[in-house]
Amino acid sequence: ALSLRSQIDSTNAEALRLMAGRSRQPLVVLAEAQSNGRGRRGRHWVSPYGENLYFTLGCSVAGGFAQLAGLSLVVGIATLRALESEGLANGGLKWPNDIYSHGKKIAGILVEIAGDPADLCQVAIGIGVNVNMTESASSIDQEWTSLRLQLGRFVDRSALAIQLAQQLQRYLQRFLDRGFHAFKDEWEQAHLWQGEECLLSTPLTSIEGVVLGVDGQGGIRLRVDGREQVFCGGELSLRRI
Ligand code: ATP
Repeated sequence: ALSLRSQIDSTNAEALRLMAGRSRQPLVVLAEAQSNGRGRRGRHWVSPYGENLYFTLGCSVAGGFAQLAGLSLVVGIATLRALESEGLANGGLKWPNDIYSHGKKIAGILVEIAGDPADLCQVAIGIGVNVNMTESASSIDQEWTSLRLQLGRFVDRSALAIQLAQQLQRYLQRFLDRGFHAFKDEWEQAHLWQGEECLLSTPLTSIEGVVLGVDGQGGIRLRVDGREQVFCGGELSLRRI
């Protein structure tokens, strides 16, 4: 099912509402603008009207939350491939799931899960891509870019939405069959900060280490004081030093 909206609070919120108790069929929600676009940990995703893509794929999955470890990283690769198909040549990933181009954020991902943690759950895969935005978003408090700024031309949002849906379908099918492990190498190849000295912020402290890669569940592997340590969870944030 496809739900096209002019203005909505958040495409993820709408997908979760549509799936609650009802549809088990996969659905896509697209909006021209979001009044309450969400990032991780309650942060705001700036979502001006008519310029960008605000896209959520919703689907029901049997088997509980545990098998979804690493999903948002796989969505990162699928999104990067869709942007590349439009001509982006310099994109890369930042753990866990931001997409950067020339050191600036071009797309963000928010995966939200509801339902029974051990059985049938509803998954909302939200993707915000800066497509034709040039200057209207002065309220963004970190460096950002858009496909238009990178490619030097206007980009057709419908074509990009179709690419995104196709890449997601391809990557999700394989992820549900084989888990994150099958994507580890591909993800590391796209990671911008492999081998770099980084700072990992947790709710309690910050840890300095060298990025070694990811583990089979999508956790980040750091070398800290000569020893490898793995960190995972939604409360973590990585920065380059
Ligand atoms: P991390 O994911 O590593 O914790 P983050 O600060 O990028 O870092 P997210 O929750 O992924 O956090 O994204 C939300 C942040 O993205 C906002 O706080 C803002 O800084 C930035 N942001 C908001 N809207 C946009 C946009 N349209 N394009 C680029 N960046 C944006």
